[in-house]
Amino acid sequence: MQLIDPIIARTLVPSPAMASAGAPAAHAPAPAAAADEPAAGDLPRRPVRGWTPTDVTAWESVRRSSVLGTLDAARGVREEHPGQALSDAQRAVLGGFLSREYGLPEETVARDLERVRMYVGGPGGGGGFGGIALGHEIYLANEQTLERILSWQGRRFLAHELGHVMQWRASRDGEEPGDDLRRTRRFLGNYVAGFVVDDRWRPGAVPRGMTRWVAARLPGTERDRRPLMREIHGAHHMEVRAEQVAQRFRAGTMPQRPATDAARGALEVTPGTNPQRQEQGQGRSAGAAG
Ligand SMILES: [Zn+2]
Repeated sequence: MQLIDPIIARTLVPSPAMASAGAPAAHAPAPAAAADEPAAGDLPRRPVRGWTPTDVTAWESVRRSSVLGTLDAARGVREEHPGQALSDAQRAVLGGFLSREYGLPEETVARDLERVRMYVGGPGGGGGFGGIALGHEIYLANEQTLERILSWQGRRFLAHELGHVMQWRASRDGEEPGDDLRRTRRFLGNYVAGFVVDDRWRPGAVPRGMTRWVAARLPGTERDRRPLMREIHGAHHMEVRAEQVAQRFRAGTMPQRPATDAARGALEVTPGTNPQRQEQGQGRSAGAAG
């Protein structure tokens, strides 16, 4: 559902699995295609022209602030304003990547990315949370956060929130068109349940998780919020997954320095240990990709 994405970068404590998952991606073989034009299975290694949409508009959500806005979403309260869409470049670059990462058909992902709309306030308002994704709607705390998520520098943030859109799509229930609301309710149920029962919904999980969530957002609890957020970001299976994928996207879109990487590899690798190192690296990489 949501993340304090400005905070996640500072508070997320990578698990050993995350650390090992990130390392191979950062030193992946150089793509053969030109850096500017993403090819199939490839990511651009430099800022993409037209990444940020032109005329970014901070549409105010009509849903209520913070958790009440999330409840509005679960009740089916609809947005009245058009919302800010993704750019063609963002959809083109992220579509294939998210499809592969989340195991969803490319056409489905492309259709979902076309429908993504961003708002400020609403469920994303109330302080603390940088971004919240509910179905196709992504809520940002304010206009500055909106501008950041749409910038090239904010692409990890964007990939993270779009990961929640993919998780929403993958939520059970609502297999037919028009079942978006049921899917949102299931997504929220899965998310809130993840607070208290790791990865499975159980009776009682929603009220328990909701109570903790609301308690962490009460006025005056700013100082106490960090430990809970760290716990969520480090332990909530949906957040961990969304962040792992987002980190891989950032790593895959970082400029490459072949000479530096080659020099580092030459220093690290000693004769006799190289094959084993390679096997381990490949194993971790394959595990992370799955
Ligand atoms: Zn998140």
